[in-house]
Amino acid sequence: MGWLDLLRKDHEEPSKAVPVQLFFTNTLTGKKEAFIPLKPGQALLYSCGPTVYSRAHIGNLRAYVFSDTLARTLEFAGYHVRRIINITDVGHLVADADEGEDKMTVAARTEGQTPRAIADRYAKLFIDDLRALGVHTEEVTFPHATNYIREQIALAETLEQKGFAYRTSDGLYYDTSRFPGYGKLGNFSGAQLREGARVAIHGGKRNPTDFALWRFAKQGDLQQWDSPWGKGNPGWHLECSAMIRALLGQQIDIHTGGEDHIQIHHNNEIAQSEAATGRTFVRYWMHNAFLTMNQDKISKSLRNDVYLSDIEEKGIHPLALRYFFLQAHYRTPLSFSWDALSAAAGALERLWKNAQEIAAESDAQEAPSEARERFLAAMRDDLSTPQALGILWDALRSEEYAPEEKWGLLADADAHLGLELLAPPLKAPLHSFAAPAEIRALLEEREVARAAKDFAKADALRHEMDNRGYRVDDGPSGPVLTEKP
Ligand code: AMP
Ligand code: ZN
Repeated sequence: MGWLDLLRKDHEEPSKAVPVQLFFTNTLTGKKEAFIPLKPGQALLYSCGPTVYSRAHIGNLRAYVFSDTLARTLEFAGYHVRRIINITDVGHLVADADEGEDKMTVAARTEGQTPRAIADRYAKLFIDDLRALGVHTEEVTFPHATNYIREQIALAETLEQKGFAYRTSDGLYYDTSRFPGYGKLGNFSGAQLREGARVAIHGGKRNPTDFALWRFAKQGDLQQWDSPWGKGNPGWHLECSAMIRALLGQQIDIHTGGEDHIQIHHNNEIAQSEAATGRTFVRYWMHNAFLTMNQDKISKSLRNDVYLSDIEEKGIHPLALRYFFLQAHYRTPLSFSWDALSAAAGALERLWKNAQEIAAESDAQEAPSEARERFLAAMRDDLSTPQALGILWDALRSEEYAPEEKWGLLADADAHLGLELLAPPLKAPLHSFAAPAEIRALLEEREVARAAKDFAKADALRHEMDNRGYRVDDGPSGPVLTEKP
């Protein structure tokens, strides 16, 4: 039986009126597949959200630029997309497994605030970052795990009633040996899973891969709720399964996350949801590769974390980060450096300037073109953003396309890539990467002088910047600033 038959068996009515064909790599099968939604014209999309004990770093942000690009591509193809990114404000322990303290409790204690205040602050910063990165946040629901405790308890009760859970000295655990095919996502072997579980068997836990559905309250826990098993708090994996069920239903089309979540978190979500409902939980699992720096993954624990605010402080537009992400395919590891980001900022600026010129030449009138078709085909082929950007650049540079055709291509590119191509930020930031504020001010002053044809003043300002260690060159698309060696 092929995968299409499997899907048909599960949902009886295969969709007929698929708006436009899209192809995605599905971690469940390891293959690129045609996207067939549960319900024609609709896509239910869930992305694992951040744990809001601190700010999301740019590695985390890669995961959401990816899911936003996916949602935009689905929407453009005619789907109504229902999007959820959860906010984890309880249950995620420091060690990522079932030992140690809750990250929210630790942050609340360190910052001398309630977990609720910490969660609200960092959730807001997270959503602000997404907005700055061009994510359509108004189309996303951001449920907090602490608002779905009842639903989590209900799901754990169902699992207990169905014989998938057992009590230990420290909580209620999921018995992974009872779920056939545990570890199927990513095709993990038993040995890999046992190794990945890291935590030794303790307190009555039966198998290394078993995980907590509910944990009894420990001394110092700042968040506790009553449950049939006693006071405590939910296990981290439970919230995604419970919120998906509550907000989207028993089955969804697409679930995304970083590839680090495949082995444990997502296999545990599958085990919980499929044991409870007896149905396929997610049709397409899609995972982004990591953002790295000097070969290490970007992570708070490695202390190489960079934040969007660091980028903005250096005078780089946040959308330069989005452009930087889109230059790589989402399934390819991407190495961050300030130089590479600076180059992306320069390219985006050139794109914006081109777009402004084409807007004027075409009078913002669009026409179809073969470049536009190729751009759409690249995006619909597993979100091939590097190819799509290449097609965009080639067409903009080419003399073969009329301004209206180029404007049409820019309109489609804008809808898919979220780079504000149709209305570039009016005062495009100068190419000023890590320059201090006073140098950026001199650069802007020089631009004003040049615009007023006051070349003596412009030269004096260039000289001034040179004395302070910065060289400015006038490229075809504006000034380029470099720090002198
Ligand atoms: P967490 O708060 O750890 O659950 O992370 C939020 C999201 O960011 C998850 O989908 C992770 O898989 C993803 N993620 C974490 N670190 C990185 C990274 N360095 N590069 C790309 N994605 C990441
Ligand atoms: Zn999740």
